[in-house]
Amino acid sequence: MKIPKEHPRAESLRVRERLLEHYKMGVVAHAGLIAHGRGEAFDYLLGEKTTKPALQAIKTAAAALLTAKHPMISVNGNAAALVADDIVKLAGVTGARIEVNLFYRSVEREKAIERVLREAGATEVLGIGEDASARIQEIGSERRRVDPRGILIADVVLVPLEDGDRTEALVRLNKKVIAVDLNPLSRTAQLATVTIVDNIVRAMPTLAKIAKELKTEDQEKLKEIASGFDNKRTLGETIDLINQQLTKLAEKGTYISLLEMSNI
Ligand code: ATP
Ligand code: MG
Repeated sequence: MKIPKEHPRAESLRVRERLLEHYKMGVVAHAGLIAHGRGEAFDYLLGEKTTKPALQAIKTAAAALLTAKHPMISVNGNAAALVADDIVKLAGVTGARIEVNLFYRSVEREKAIERVLREAGATEVLGIGEDASARIQEIGSERRRVDPRGILIADVVLVPLEDGDRTEALVRLNKKVIAVDLNPLSRTAQLATVTIVDNIVRAMPTLAKIAKELKTEDQEKLKEIASGFDNKRTLGETIDLINQQLTKLAEKGTYISLLEMSNI
C-alpha cells in the first residue's frame, strides 16, 4: 500500500504496513497484530514521542547491559519485524546474545524470525528448534523453553514486548529484566526491573545509540547509573505525563493535534 507522505499518521501507518508484510512472511503472529494495537493506543496518549522518563530508563538499560556478565536480547515476531537492525546493533555494542522466544511457538516461525535477524546482520541466533532444550519451570506458556546458552544463564535480559507472566518469572529467578512496553499499567511494565515506556521503533535505535556512547565509560560509573534508578517512580512520572496531556485536552474541550500535545 502506498502511504501519502503528508498523511498525519504516515509513520504509524508505515509501521502497520511493516507488521502486515511480516505477518504474511510468517514472522508475526495473529495476536502480534492485536498487541500492536494496544500499544498504539498508549502511544497516542504519550504524544508519540520518547518522553523524559523513557530516556532515563533507556540510559539505565544501556548501563545495565554494558555491565552484565551474560546480557541477552529476547526476540519475538513483532520485535524482529520492526527493529531487527537495531537489535543486531545493540547486540554488537553490548556483547549481548540474541535468542528467539515465542508465546505462539512453531519451528517455522522461529526460522522465519531467525532469517530476518540474519539478514539484518546477526551472526548467531539462539533458541531455534531443538536448541531451546532447557526449561524454566516457573513459566506457564511455551515461552518456558529456552536455550541453555542464553536466557537460562542470563543475568540481564532485554525483552522488547513481553508478557507479564514471563517477566514475573524471570525477575523471580533474580534476572534483571529490561522491558519495552508502551502500556505503563501492564503487568510487564509494573514487574520489570527497568521499564522503557516507549514505542520499540523509537526506543531501540535510541538504546543502541546511547549504549555506544556509554561504552567508553568505566564500569564503576556504569554500575552507578544502572543502580540509581527507581522503576516505580519513573512509571509514576509517565502516568503523570499522560494525566497532564489528558487534563490539557479536557480543559480545551476540543481536539488538539498531537503536535500541540507534544509541547505540553
Ligand atoms: P501484560 O501481560 O504485561 O499484563 P498485556 O497482556 O496487556 O500485558 P500483551 O498482549 O501481553 O499485553 O503484550 C502486548 C504489550 O506490548 C502491550 O502492553 C502493548 O502496550 C505493548 N506493545 C505493543 N506494540 C508495541 C510497540 N511497538 N512498542 C512498545 N510496546 C508495544
Ligand atoms: Mg499478557
